[in-house]
Amino acid sequence: MLLPDGCMVFPSQLRLVPASGGTMFAEWFDLWLSLVLPIRPPPDTDRLAGSLIGQCLGDAVGFVVEGYSREICQEYVDEILLTDKAGTIGRSPHAFGQYTDDSQLARTLIESYVACRGFNPGDYARRIAELFSEQRVVGRGRASTAAAVRLARGVPWREAGVPAPYAGNGAAMRAAPIGWMFPHRQTTLIQAAQDQARITHTDPRAVAGSVAIAGAVALALRAGHGRLKRDVVIDTLVRWVRPIEPLFAADLEQLHTLLSRDPADAHWLISRAGSKSGEADTHRWPTDTDTISPYVVPSVLWSLYSFLRAPDDYWRAVCLAVSGGGDTDTTAAMTGAISGAYLGLDAIPRPLALRLNDCGTWDFESLCGLVDAFSAVQSRGLVS
Ligand SMILES: [Mg+2]
Repeated sequence: MLLPDGCMVFPSQLRLVPASGGTMFAEWFDLWLSLVLPIRPPPDTDRLAGSLIGQCLGDAVGFVVEGYSREICQEYVDEILLTDKAGTIGRSPHAFGQYTDDSQLARTLIESYVACRGFNPGDYARRIAELFSEQRVVGRGRASTAAAVRLARGVPWREAGVPAPYAGNGAAMRAAPIGWMFPHRQTTLIQAAQDQARITHTDPRAVAGSVAIAGAVALALRAGHGRLKRDVVIDTLVRWVRPIEPLFAADLEQLHTLLSRDPADAHWLISRAGSKSGEADTHRWPTDTDTISPYVVPSVLWSLYSFLRAPDDYWRAVCLAVSGGGDTDTTAAMTGAISGAYLGLDAIPRPLALRLNDCGTWDFESLCGLVDAFSAVQSRGLVS
């Protein structure tokens, strides 16, 4: 049977499949797997809340120094975040606690899922256009803004995305909830991560970044605290990304050796990652070449490095992400989403999390309420 807007449900399995944008192979392969594998419970609400609050807090913390040099960001980490002064500085005109487009768009993806009872790229695209046209986006990116304008003019979501060679991290930064939706269904997960990316970005590197972040969140949810194996995470993401963008997959594979290097060495290498494509420089901050730019390859690599260097400590992972400088709201948001999914809500500093808000709305309690609504949809058996 069909739900509105192209979401398809197989009544016998009561599993939601993304009809729009998904390949028939992806849908039927996962359906076959669901029949032969034992039923696995959906992720527990505490870890989903950890992922959303972890993303929003990383975003809010990183927003304070977004665009600044590595030296200034390291100073912010050492003298503010790692002392009792954390949360005393905001980003004018916002007080501390404001999060930005990364988390606004991830939150909107969850809202769309709850409203449609499943992933629906057409509905999500409509909500993205609405958010931008109502001027509610904080720290908007170039590609997402251009795509939102096209969507608002009636361009279909499959055709709205900015073409190559623009390969910013705007699709990866909001991809975490895709990992919540399909933690055990890798074919559908990969397809959905690609579809959500293509609403605003069509460059294969930007699409691959979405798969890497959604995939990392799914693997963190699957692993259970204390059972995450770094090499397995890296190898799995390499396998999922390779068919989309082999060069990005090769860079991800370097994480095996990068993780044995200290942050200074790893940062030097990661900040230059992807340059063999010849297009990295278009995404760099104009004043500083030694930061993590909004180019999707280094920012996704640095976020994964930050999480995998400190998998058991949310705050340490987020501080490491921020210390890289440059696109700090996004690197800390992606790191925080993965870390929170792995460690759960209690691993996140509660006094700071309680100050989260989006221009006075969508505070900690509202975000947790949204997670409850998401879990309620999942636990009705509509998804795996
Ligand atoms: Mg942002």
